[in-house]
Amino acid sequence: MLELRPTCEHCNKALPPDSLEARICTYECTFCVSCVDRVLGNVCPNCGGGFVPRPVRPSKNWKGDNFLGKDPASTQIKVEAKFDPKPTNDNWEERQGVVAWARAIAPNETLKFSVAYTIGYPKDGAVAGLP
Ligand SMILES: [Zn+2]
Ligand SMILES: [Zn+2]
Repeated sequence: MLELRPTCEHCNKALPPDSLEARICTYECTFCVSCVDRVLGNVCPNCGGGFVPRPVRPSKNWKGDNFLGKDPASTQIKVEAKFDPKPTNDNWEERQGVVAWARAIAPNETLKFSVAYTIGYPKDGAVAGLP
């Protein structure tokens, strides 16, 4: 279920649940239509995905209690996180507020990691688990 976040994460404009100006990305980052069109170029600054208009949740109980009275909109205001460089992953491993950066490697760049193990064992011994 969508949280129906209350404001634009960029300009902080109020986006009530019946707003036709709310735009969301697949992770429900929420922005107003003018920020999406004029500032963001229809690309979510948090996730890199595109936006769609956010559906309006009915305020009347038309069917099966699926309405704002039972499932109210979120009141938790999200603000755009200011990180430089931008983390590629926030809420790392589902932990709220933990961010992570993934390192992109350029085509001609080399990152080397080497790990060496020396296992000593008696000359006629065998390591358990090996043939
Ligand atoms: Zn906005
Ligand atoms: Zn997003």
